[in-house]
Amino acid sequence: NEELLINSEKLYVAGQLAAGIAHEIRNPLTSLKGFLQLIASGRREISYYGIMNSELNRIEGIVSELLMLSKPQVYELSYYDVRSVMRDTVTLLEAQAILHNIAIETDLGRDTLWIYGVENQIKQVFINVIKNAIEAMIDGGAIRIQMGREDDSVRIRISDEGPGIKEAQLAKMGQPFYTTKEKGTGLGLMVSYKIVDNHQGRIDVYSQLGAGTTFEISLPFRYPEAEAVTKSS
Ligand code: ADP
Ligand code: MG
Repeated sequence: NEELLINSEKLYVAGQLAAGIAHEIRNPLTSLKGFLQLIASGRREISYYGIMNSELNRIEGIVSELLMLSKPQVYELSYYDVRSVMRDTVTLLEAQAILHNIAIETDLGRDTLWIYGVENQIKQVFINVIKNAIEAMIDGGAIRIQMGREDDSVRIRISDEGPGIKEAQLAKMGQPFYTTKEKGTGLGLMVSYKIVDNHQGRIDVYSQLGAGTTFEISLPFRYPEAEAVTKSS
């Protein structure tokens, strides 16, 4: 029946994911082991430590992104203004943007944009998407962030002036470990899609080669007082 089918599909996805994780973690582990053996045999090249450190960072990055997928320890659901989450995120990433010659321009509108969910997770989504935009714009430029209410949704648009994404690549984005970056994990978007999906939202990507990419995140607008009245009546 349908439930069984869904369960076997979930198992299949979990199996795929486990295989991918194992593979991604085994590579840096193998290389770490190799360097340890070299050091043990008396070769103490200073450059080994830098490489070992970056391999360890890679494993750390994979593990911490995966932790975002499992249920967080503190799972705090609340109503909040998603604009403040965006303000915090932009402050957080400002220095990194400036270092890359990138200006972040925001238009967050005047209305309070109420949403309901786990604030830290939504912040993680914003960080992942804006970081990708920064990483895409190797020649600098502007990232434009626009937020507003459209009917029953809060719509968040994050546009960059990067190289854009080919159609064949667009389809692969969000698949675990899909990355075109030398130091990428290919987990940021998978985690982001999963989080937004858990919040009954969606992410759409619009891209034009040579012009840039827009990530459009939609989340349900949820006004706390209206719902409190509905619940108590
Ligand atoms: P990572 O950033 O570790 O590569 P992500 O899941 O965050 O993993 O992104 C997957 C891939 O999607 C990236 O490697 C890149 O090829 C593509 N991508 C994501 N955002 C953008 C963007 N704004 N412009 C161009 N390519 C992008
Ligand atoms: Mg990323």
